[in-house]
Amino acid sequence: KSIHTLAQRYYSTNVNTVGVIGGGQMGAGIAQVLAQVAKKNVILVDLNKNVIEKSLIGINGFLQKSVSKGVITEEDKENTLKRISFSDDLNSLKNVDFVVEAIVENTEIKCNLFKDLAKICKPGTILASNTSSISITQIASHTNEPQNVIGMHFMNPVPIMKLVEVIPGLQTSEETQKTTLKLAVEMNKTTTFSKDMPGFIANRLLMPYINEAVQALHEGLGTKEDIDTTMKLGCNMPMGPLTLADFIGLDTCYSIMNILHTQLGDKYKPSPLLKRYVEAGRLGKKVKHGFYTY
Ligand code: NAD
Repeated sequence: KSIHTLAQRYYSTNVNTVGVIGGGQMGAGIAQVLAQVAKKNVILVDLNKNVIEKSLIGINGFLQKSVSKGVITEEDKENTLKRISFSDDLNSLKNVDFVVEAIVENTEIKCNLFKDLAKICKPGTILASNTSSISITQIASHTNEPQNVIGMHFMNPVPIMKLVEVIPGLQTSEETQKTTLKLAVEMNKTTTFSKDMPGFIANRLLMPYINEAVQALHEGLGTKEDIDTTMKLGCNMPMGPLTLADFIGLDTCYSIMNILHTQLGDKYKPSPLLKRYVEAGRLGKKVKHGFYTY
């Protein structure tokens, strides 16, 4: 609690430019809120040029809707867009003050990226990961400044959801924690802390619930509509678990379940049906086809 108070009241970040890596559902949202709410300059990097184009269209569309609703002005929209630049080259992050990584949920790919970032970024740059489940301590061990590595776990969709889970690794410094909390406050987010354990708090609780819904579908306990409507209308969930899984991305759900399973035991075994959907490329809303079609 004291570190929250310190960060919010007395500490201001020297963060002017933030690099966001991965222009998918999460990266685009993080870049937008950094530019729109925290008024930071943002460089959004993705290896895939099509993704870059898609994220620009997505951000523009979201801002346009806010203008139509009267939430922001046309000038706010233009200023936000001016603050975001796009790149397919990681070297463009050599002068940023802070990085938020939001690439695919794969331990090896993330660790390799952090190894590269440690070589590219200037000393002292904070390297935050938006991972849903991978150990921050493990990611940090691939850099030469593990004290500057931290988990900054945003929720989907980033412009709407209030929470950021902050996860210090074993060697994360207090200075890094304070700057991260302050940046989250500048983005108008509320923070919680989680220990660096598989799935942290949010996904340790959420994923077994989603996985059980997939398993229930697999066993024929009900149709997908029966399962979702029961939880929505019967338990007052804002959306059913299978709809939510489509929204998160079934590949991401499967990766998180695998990490929980490997590190915490058989209680967390992913449903075989979840694996089948991923093998079929039915990854959810982002590809317009998961349990439902969009
Ligand atoms: P996504 O599939 O929409 O986007 C991932 C992006 O990363 C893709 O655009 C891909 O081109 C890019 N990418 C892959 N490897 C790269 C590399 N080496 N360098 C640069 N770009 C690379 O996935 P997402 O849903 O945005 O999830 C991204 C991260 O955020 C994951 O770690 C996930 O666990 C986490 N997360 C997801 C959610 C969610 O609800 N989807 C919520 C919180 C956190």
